[in-house]
Amino acid sequence: VRSVNGLPELRGTTGPITTVRVLYSDLHGVARGKDVPVQEFDRVAESGLGFCAAVMGTDLAHTPVVGGEEGYPDLVAKPDLSTLVSLPWEPGVACCLADLHPVHGGPPPADARGSVRDAVAVFEELGFAPVVAPELEFFLCDLDPDAPGGIRRRVDRLSMVYTVGPQVDPGGIVRKLTEDLASIGLGAFAVNHEFMNSQYEINQHHADALTAADNAFRLKAAVKDVAALNGLVATFMGKPFNDQGGSGTHVHVSLEQDGVNVFDAPGAADEVSDTLRHFVAGVLAHAPALMALLNPTINSYRRLVPDSLAPTHANWGHDNRSTFVRIPAERGRATRVEVRVGDGAANPYLAVSALLQAGAHGVRERLEPPAPLSGDAYHAEEAVIGAPLPRTLEASLDALEQDTVLRAALGEPIVATFLAMKRFEVERHRSHVSDWELAEYVHHV
Ligand code: GLU
Ligand code: MG
Ligand code: MG
Repeated sequence: VRSVNGLPELRGTTGPITTVRVLYSDLHGVARGKDVPVQEFDRVAESGLGFCAAVMGTDLAHTPVVGGEEGYPDLVAKPDLSTLVSLPWEPGVACCLADLHPVHGGPPPADARGSVRDAVAVFEELGFAPVVAPELEFFLCDLDPDAPGGIRRRVDRLSMVYTVGPQVDPGGIVRKLTEDLASIGLGAFAVNHEFMNSQYEINQHHADALTAADNAFRLKAAVKDVAALNGLVATFMGKPFNDQGGSGTHVHVSLEQDGVNVFDAPGAADEVSDTLRHFVAGVLAHAPALMALLNPTINSYRRLVPDSLAPTHANWGHDNRSTFVRIPAERGRATRVEVRVGDGAANPYLAVSALLQAGAHGVRERLEPPAPLSGDAYHAEEAVIGAPLPRTLEASLDALEQDTVLRAALGEPIVATFLAMKRFEVERHRSHVSDWELAEYVHHV
């Protein structure tokens, strides 16, 4: 079906589309792109849009850290028309995702979306298709120039977890967004208030890895856009408040073969398969390097403390929310692993591709994990608690740099760019004097 302006009929469209937004993910997971007037879109769909490739190596302070040696060349973003949806919260705007390509003769761009395609191809060779579901938490805040970070929690009442309705979501902003995401087929199926004040989680359906990563990336952009439309700020930052726990990006994974979940094994110990155990072993073996991508900010490491429902050690357990990898209790089609370490700042594409590549290593090499941990992992015995996780971004970056398997799997355009940009972030932070230091030292030393 062709509708007005030659665009395919889009779900949830209420009027003519006047602009197509073409988006891709930078390495932080931040949405980049251009708005294209609909009359121009046919041409753009054909030839793509040009961008300065340094965008992929630009840290959050907007300093291009890589690309200089090559003279800051271009990259080309080519729309993937299968991802075109309308944006109900911006009438007249449709949005599609793009894949990144080099300009003629140019260097290969650090394409986060492409890294998920690569990870899926690795599993295809092993005979499996990954099924993925991300769970993203975030805080919704009012702007307050006098508060730290310029934000104040919108609903600041304790014990609101799993409550719904106007008391925890004034104006129904989060509820409406979830309806809108469902209406355009982006997989949102439930929303609830989380453990922390003004913290929410939108659940997304499981899907093939690329669709799941696309949906998570689009959810983050949508949450931030809708917050902005309402004069609010949504943050996925791992640990934005000193008096509250943080926000996770949990990633659920299972593997299918001919439509059958190969993690499920009725009759086996704990009714999980050898393949599930190998996958877990791969993830745990690469845990420190994975964390560079799953916990990619200086701030991320403040969330990973005892009693936070986020892990502190590389371990796994059955329905255990204190472990790095939790095996939820459901079986059959739902037998799966949940990796709990990542925080909201993780780039969904890199989180998914890195986890899948680590798991693939475990499956290929038939790695065995240690025994699953039962009970409170935060206070477990030395013998069973597992290896302590890196406690700083710098330590995770060191681990990624040294993890030859993961580096090769993710490819140098991504890893080298990511390391350069994140090393620069660490360096900037290292020489910055914080409020905490001033409060701690000025009057006492
Ligand atoms: N907010 C917790 C985290 O930082 C997770 C809570 C939950 O299990 O939903 O990962
Ligand atoms: Mg949650
Ligand atoms: Mg979860």
